[in-house]
Amino acid sequence: MKTNQFMELALEEARAAGARGEVPIGAVVVLDGAVIARSGNRTRELNDITAHAEVAAIRMACEALGQERLSGADLYVTLEPCTMCAAAISFARIRRLYYGAEDPKGGGVENGVRFYAQPTCHHAPEVYSGMSEVQAAEILRGFFQGKRD
Ligand SMILES: [Zn+2]
Repeated sequence: MKTNQFMELALEEARAAGARGEVPIGAVVVLDGAVIARSGNRTRELNDITAHAEVAAIRMACEALGQERLSGADLYVTLEPCTMCAAAISFARIRRLYYGAEDPKGGGVENGVRFYAQPTCHHAPEVYSGMSEVQAAEILRGFFQGKRD
C-alpha cells in the first residue's frame, strides 16, 4: 500500500467516528508496510478525553506488538495532532507523522506550541502535512455544520 492509501484508511476512520457522534478524526499506525492499528476518536464512547484518534491508535498498536514504543512505525492522521497527541507520538518514537488538514486552533505541530521544535522534545518524527487535507477538512466541516443545523 502507498502512503495515500493509508491516509484513505484514516479518512475512513474519521468518517466512522463522525457517524458515532465523535469528532471525526481518524488515525492509522503502519509498520513495515502493514497497518497494525487504526482508530477514530473515542472520547465520548470511553468517557476519556485522552482517547483522541492518535492516542487510541498508538495504544492499540503497542498492545498488538506487546511493547511500549513504536520505533520505525509511521502514523497517519487526518488532522494536525494537538499538543497531547504530538507528545504521545514523540514518546512512542514514531518515525514519520503524516497528517491531513492543519489545525490553527488546536494543533501542536506546526501551530500552537510546535512541540517538536522545543528543546524539551527528545524525539521528533519526520513530519509530512497536507496529505488529503481537502477531504479531511471537509469531513470536519460537515460534522460541525451538522451540529449547528
Ligand atoms: Zn489529540
